[in-house]
Amino acid sequence: MNILVINCGSSSLKFQVIDTDNGSVLAKGLCERIGIDGAITYQNVRDHGGKIKTKTQIEDHKKAISLVLDAITDPQGGVVKTLAEIGAVGHRIVHGGEKFTESTLIDDDVIQGIREVSDLAPLHNPANLTGILACRALMPNTPMVAVFDTSFHQTMPPKAYLYALPQKYYEKYRIRRYGFHGTSHKYVSRAVASFLGKKPEDLKTIVCHLGNGASVSAVEYGKCIDTSMGLTPLEGLIMGTRSGDVDPAVVSYIADKENITASEVIDILNKESGVEALSGGLSDFRDLWDARDRGDEKATLALDAWAYRVAKYIGAYVAAMNGVDVIAFTAGIGENDDKSRALIYQYLGYLGITIDDAKNAATHGDAAIISTPESKVTVVVYPTNEELAIAQDTLALVEGARKN
Ligand code: ADP
Repeated sequence: MNILVINCGSSSLKFQVIDTDNGSVLAKGLCERIGIDGAITYQNVRDHGGKIKTKTQIEDHKKAISLVLDAITDPQGGVVKTLAEIGAVGHRIVHGGEKFTESTLIDDDVIQGIREVSDLAPLHNPANLTGILACRALMPNTPMVAVFDTSFHQTMPPKAYLYALPQKYYEKYRIRRYGFHGTSHKYVSRAVASFLGKKPEDLKTIVCHLGNGASVSAVEYGKCIDTSMGLTPLEGLIMGTRSGDVDPAVVSYIADKENITASEVIDILNKESGVEALSGGLSDFRDLWDARDRGDEKATLALDAWAYRVAKYIGAYVAAMNGVDVIAFTAGIGENDDKSRALIYQYLGYLGITIDDAKNAATHGDAAIISTPESKVTVVVYPTNEELAIAQDTLALVEGARKN
């Protein structure tokens, strides 16, 4: 089945057409600056086409979706003749709250449910909903599925997801830890098990999703029991521009000293912190390593602090699961950056982990075991593929509905 995967942000929309018969990407692209001016980038991957960027007015998400549908059905560059060849649409939804514990076929009740949890992700869920409504208007008879960033983490027990706060805040506002990147943590934990010839139900796995946004999860026998992000994606690791864990008292302290509001401080913690703040302006890890190699002390500190935090979370999750069989690295940094991975390994010797340094240095973007055969824990690099995971969930639900 050909599935259109949509990832709608507030002013952007990423898309892919995936043939689930073989998992191949037929076409992909991006609409940018929606509501500002607009541009669409499109690539016919099936026929090895290059990226084509066209500037055009994109006043809203409906216009963006209609441009996407035009591009994929275009007689020259398209990958399907008509929209009838698109069997379903899979939508990435950032927050499913406690309501959505798994991916689901979209109907009016689901749309209402996504709306109800929008308070928890005010920047993302309304944009995701706009994408759903725009698709519905233009492809009214095509089944659609919602795949949530939070749902894989809904198996966390209360001792992991509750904050030690007055429980009225949980009861009134559902303030708790949710976790994000769930599609990636689920996909990678399962794919790594099969890569190793094992079943997820037989493994204790720690997945390190290390991109610009980053999180770690503890997956015990196939189920997530803890993850580093919380109510929002701000908690946990040091990220590109996010601080990760800080003493919450920092917020009111800065607000008072700088005469700004709490939400302005949170904005600073999300957008002006992380390795970018520690290094004095660098958030891309390639730039950080260039600077470190030149002897830049701030870049050196930023990378050391980043790796130290990842290692601390790995240690915490070894304790949470009373052991670990597999540690998996994924996403932009986890897949590509052997030197940053090596900064993390230096803390893992106590687990009996030994790394094949040559294998680590040679692994960029491919699936590979990088620990030695003697290592007590298997360390793996495995590329994530959130779009494929969304397409697979979409296919399963649409086929399941057809059979019923
Ligand atoms: P996100 O989806 O959160 O934007 P990604 O998973 O795409 O993040 O990761 C992006 C980050 O990965 C970049 O900011 C960069 O730091 C890092 N990265 C990508 N490729 C490389 C590479 N070859 N070497 C080092 N770091 C890389």
